[in-house]
Amino acid sequence: MSVINDVKQRVDIVELISDYVPLRKAGRNFKALCPFHSEKNPSFFVFPDQQTWHCFGACNTGGDVFAFIMKKEGVDFGRALPLLARRAGIVLNEPTEAEKAKDKETERLFGINELISEYYHHLLLSTTAGERVRSYLNSRGITLETIRKFRLGFSPDDWEAGKGFLINKGYEQKDLVDIGLIIEKEDGGSYDRFRNRLMFPIWDIKGRVIGFGARVLDDSQPKYTNSPQTLLFDKGSNFYGIDKAKDIIRKENLAIIVEGYMDVLAAHQNGWQNVVASMGIALTEKQVNILKRLTKNITLALDADMAGEEATLRSGEILARSLDRKAIPVPLWSGLVRCESMLVAEIKVIPLPSGKDPAEVIIETPKLWQGMVTQALPILEFALEAVVSKVDFNKAE
Ligand SMILES: [Zn+2]
Repeated sequence: MSVINDVKQRVDIVELISDYVPLRKAGRNFKALCPFHSEKNPSFFVFPDQQTWHCFGACNTGGDVFAFIMKKEGVDFGRALPLLARRAGIVLNEPTEAEKAKDKETERLFGINELISEYYHHLLLSTTAGERVRSYLNSRGITLETIRKFRLGFSPDDWEAGKGFLINKGYEQKDLVDIGLIIEKEDGGSYDRFRNRLMFPIWDIKGRVIGFGARVLDDSQPKYTNSPQTLLFDKGSNFYGIDKAKDIIRKENLAIIVEGYMDVLAAHQNGWQNVVASMGIALTEKQVNILKRLTKNITLALDADMAGEEATLRSGEILARSLDRKAIPVPLWSGLVRCESMLVAEIKVIPLPSGKDPAEVIIETPKLWQGMVTQALPILEFALEAVVSKVDFNKAE
């Protein structure tokens, strides 16, 4: 079952059908002369948002990528699957016993993260020690509803609180080391990785807790730490908030990328539920691959310092490289037609006021943020301005 979903996830219906008939843009969708019946006016439509197609003409039928290939190639499902799987780069194999055991083990480890996130959440909401974190969040304008929605937590100032809680629940020290919750000492002992911190559980797109972000409660550095790279957690292939944002991103056909956890909280709390955080300085290709299934319109709102500007330009580059292109036929004066590759995406940038992060702008001046989103600059304009602002024209000869 999951292979079928994998194939559906990875094969883009627009790309697939473009291989058979030239598609023309029609609003958010595409149309073409139906490849299955003869017609003069296009009544065949492709809907990228739903990843479906439909002929409203003589065929009056439609479906997904499988239905298209079965009809077009005249094959049954059993033969359509390997065709599409090959296209998606998926190797078809029955899962072995070892693989099934590994899946079960992974589920068990996700369970530990789930449990500890509830524990930290409880400590934040219902203990005296959590009071300081509650008032910090309050001072940043974060409501109780948001704290609950994102299951924010508090890891106590204690070397063994989390470890003790989980060992009591029957888990082994090794499990906790494996998912990065505790750190092993040379003498074989171990201690909690996250102590005296505001905790942000990080969910993957399927809604599983894969790791944590943690913020110090004083001015010490570094301000933020994350779970290390583990079997469950790979920072560069996930977005913070993607589980809660994915449906809205698809519906609004726009994703806004910010840098930090607090930016996501502030945005969602104020009705901007299509906002996710990159959790790092620049985007990765793996991250772009997650987003491009949901929308081709991506707006970057990274911090306004020099590092943020560079990260924006680098992210724009990665986006442009990783997003799909399609061939656009361009008629030439000679009567021939040349195909030009065109990016099927719109990348924009929200230039933030200097010294402000999105969380501050959204909480303090939601109207200003609204305007900034609607007036976001195309990345090329932003890049040009960034270059021009660095040139000192007085020195030019
Ligand atoms: Zn038709």
